[in-house]
Amino acid sequence: MSLVEQDARAQLEALRARRVSSAELVQEHLRRIAQHEALNAFVHVDADVALQAARAADAARAQGAQSALLGLPLAHKDVFVTRDMPSTAGSRMLAGYRSPFDATVVARLRDAGAVCLGKTNMDEFAMGSANENSAFGAVRNPWDAAAIAGGSSGGSAAAVAARLVPAATGTDTGGSIRQPAAMCGITGIKPTYGLCSRFGMIAYASSLDQAGVMARSAWDCALLLGAMGGFDARDATSVEHPAQDYSGALDAPREGADARRPLAGLRIGLPREWFAHGLADEVAQAVREALARLQGLGAELVDIDLPRSELSVAAYYILAPAEASSNLSRFDGVRYGHRAQQYRDLAEMYANSRAEGFGPEVKRRILIGTYVLSHGYYDAYYLQAQKIRRLIAEDFLRAFASCDLIAGPVAPTVAWDRGAKADPVSNYLADVHTLPASLAGLPAMSLPAGFGRGAHAARPVGLQLVAPHFGEARLLHAAHQFQRVTDWHQRAPAN
Ligand code: GLN
Repeated sequence: MSLVEQDARAQLEALRARRVSSAELVQEHLRRIAQHEALNAFVHVDADVALQAARAADAARAQGAQSALLGLPLAHKDVFVTRDMPSTAGSRMLAGYRSPFDATVVARLRDAGAVCLGKTNMDEFAMGSANENSAFGAVRNPWDAAAIAGGSSGGSAAAVAARLVPAATGTDTGGSIRQPAAMCGITGIKPTYGLCSRFGMIAYASSLDQAGVMARSAWDCALLLGAMGGFDARDATSVEHPAQDYSGALDAPREGADARRPLAGLRIGLPREWFAHGLADEVAQAVREALARLQGLGAELVDIDLPRSELSVAAYYILAPAEASSNLSRFDGVRYGHRAQQYRDLAEMYANSRAEGFGPEVKRRILIGTYVLSHGYYDAYYLQAQKIRRLIAEDFLRAFASCDLIAGPVAPTVAWDRGAKADPVSNYLADVHTLPASLAGLPAMSLPAGFGRGAHAARPVGLQLVAPHFGEARLLHAAHQFQRVTDWHQRAPAN
């Protein structure tokens, strides 16, 4: 197997052992990116910037530097602002925009030695579940060109799945790391809200937005999360919780642990509501088989209830647009990005710039958000949704009294056909399994757990694991143990 086909851990080992230079590794990935342009996974690739960084990493290594990610190629979702490459958030509004500073996540990964090859495609302003809302075109699923890649971090998911980069950043407001990871057969982690800095992340719904990692394995996710997480004084909602050595903890021997039953004593809760009607049989079956594997590792499966799960869709699609309508008011044609050419006065300049710059889904959400926040509707919608959000969070707290992790599907179906869900509400409903953990601010992962059946035999299924706040270490441990006895995460799409 060539090195590009291997995971971040193997690539770093090869770099450390000087079996390959970062410049060679970057060049090989750039070649693959060029070969897979049809996936539309990237909106910007900068070979010069990447090779310069790779040569600097090689020079640093020659001088004895040993930072955790030294020379490792990766990509950033185009929602993170970067100084040396454009940042568009998948929108015409920001076409060609260059930030004068780097997002904290970008800066931390670079400081750890990672080499950014480019920016990945995404739904406009991270609004979407299929990656069909990008101003730069839809992303194709590397497993099946007829299928969506999932959204909104579909470019990162497709790039990692197709081995264009070993890892990429993503953001998850209501499922945008977990759902595309599931649909592209890779591993993704959305950390606890506040663990990773939002500074320099183009805002969608600030009380929900969280950065995370998309990679091949839980171990790789742990490594990158350790480098990018942790307190940042420039983000007011950043939590003073030190980033841990998550990957080191996965390798450390556990005292008194039975090697064959490494999950002994772990109680995994199965929310009845997550396995109810609406869940495709092929997804249910793969998830049940994955749960049996976890049981085989010693975990105990317990039934739990998350009774307000279904309400998460209604609550989220009020709260997220409300916050978006406020966040997106900054795009006025004056301070950032696109400005209309034709206008008669200031008001028309605002209106025309926004009419031309935003796509239909973004406009829809601004309308919904403005409506639910307006006088007379605030109490009926926004306030009610806030109350439901609190009840959903309380349901989780209650559930975690009788279990240590919660498991279930990531989405009700495998990736659907491109163009199949034209109406917005059918897209919203497909978020039902990821929204509850988002509303509660909990850390959650998606792990490859099999494939669909029949016509969907090439479409991956994801297993979702959710932990209590700041339970990343527990979450990653269970995921890593699962991946030690399964090989779904090692499967690759053809060519
Ligand atoms: N599908 C959800 C939405 O469109 C989630 C997106 C996200 O997590 N960024 O809002």
